[in-house]
Amino acid sequence: MTDHTRQSATRLSQNNDVLLQLTGIKKSFGQTEVLTDINLDIEHGEFITLLGPSGCGKTTLLRLIAGFEQPTAGAIYLDGVQMAGLPADKRPVNTVFQQYALFPHMSVAQNVAYGLKLKKVPKDEIQKRVQEALGMVQLEHLASRRPQELSGGQQQRVAIARAVINRPKLLLLDEPLSALDHKLRLQMQSELKRLQRELGITFVFVTHDQEEALSMSDRIAVMKDGRFQQIGTPIEIYETPANLFTAKFIGEANLFKAEVHGVYPEQPDRNGQLTNGRIEVEVCEAQVQDGQTPLRNLRRPDFASDVQVGDIVNLLLRPEDLRIYAPNDSEHAGLIGHVIESNYKGSTLDSIIELKNGHIVKASEFFDEDDPSFDYKLGEAVKVSWVDGWEWVLPDEDTTDVDSGFNPAASSQKTDQKDGN
Ligand code: ATP
Repeated sequence: MTDHTRQSATRLSQNNDVLLQLTGIKKSFGQTEVLTDINLDIEHGEFITLLGPSGCGKTTLLRLIAGFEQPTAGAIYLDGVQMAGLPADKRPVNTVFQQYALFPHMSVAQNVAYGLKLKKVPKDEIQKRVQEALGMVQLEHLASRRPQELSGGQQQRVAIARAVINRPKLLLLDEPLSALDHKLRLQMQSELKRLQRELGITFVFVTHDQEEALSMSDRIAVMKDGRFQQIGTPIEIYETPANLFTAKFIGEANLFKAEVHGVYPEQPDRNGQLTNGRIEVEVCEAQVQDGQTPLRNLRRPDFASDVQVGDIVNLLLRPEDLRIYAPNDSEHAGLIGHVIESNYKGSTLDSIIELKNGHIVKASEFFDEDDPSFDYKLGEAVKVSWVDGWEWVLPDEDTTDVDSGFNPAASSQKTDQKDGN
């Protein structure tokens, strides 16, 4: 577990508002351990998302919380009560799985009403709450249809209505919006958020869609190979990722290798205030092209005490952090390349630039309506730079699955301005 993970995971356990507590969870199937050292406290009313590549253990973790599987080690507490041995139907938890398993012989309204009927809720109230729940998922007009007469997306919405109507303390959602088209998906995202706020239900949400995770969650737990990589707010995860995996998995990442030339600790300034300290680096790609790159002065990262002169670090720059200048611009140090793609996106101009050493980077600049020349021709030579301090410095890792450079598969989303900006 990284320091980032530890800080965010333990922060909540200091207050009494914790609903779900996972401590030391391990899960093995046969000889294969698929979850390792899972520790997490979730507050009442929190919206937390599990995000990670296929097979990293998200569904397994939901199934443990729901009670469909038992952990190999560790404990799950819900409202302070140990869940060990308590069957799924006795837990105050509802789950919306990818396979939503509606009852085929019942109408939509009967499916949604089912949980309340079991609890012997009075008929009038059932009717009122079914009406409300169907309104929430925009399916009032299909109340008397059977599930097999609905599209996949409509069935998914029935499953959500059926879970929410029980007003569980904890709602587990495993990719609940995956079958919806883009427009409906966006609508359901805000409906779900509204519902979660209004009903005060705690959500543990699984998605592959990082924009969905960034926009909906109070916190995101990034997973890889059955372990948490980082737990933090969307802004923390995007702006200050704990490692290269998280940096590349969330959003688009330009990564530059740089050699450390000096590490300078915190020092009092003229007024006696402690400054952050800095590191001095030489960006490796720039060395290749210019042969005379000036050193860059960067904010000193937390791990700097482990860094020696001559070490390699990674500089993360999101596309919106990069600035493009003319190649002969003498004011800014930068990396020379040429534009290989330029896409006007309405509010931004997104450019893909190939640097001289073949490294591909992406820059996203706000479109300037007052500048008619604000565009790039394919093949145009440019200089890529950034303001010192906008980068996020990460230690070098010996990873085979995390290569350096722009990650075109991911999507871009600026969540906040860098401090020191
Ligand atoms: P996806 O995003 O594709 O749904 P996931 O992150 O939810 O993936 P899990 O379904 O939790 O991943 O699976 C984690 C690992 O555990 C996988 O390697 C999977 O093959 C394995 N696994 C899950 N259930 C079982 C089982 N019942 N028996 C054996 N292995 C299992």
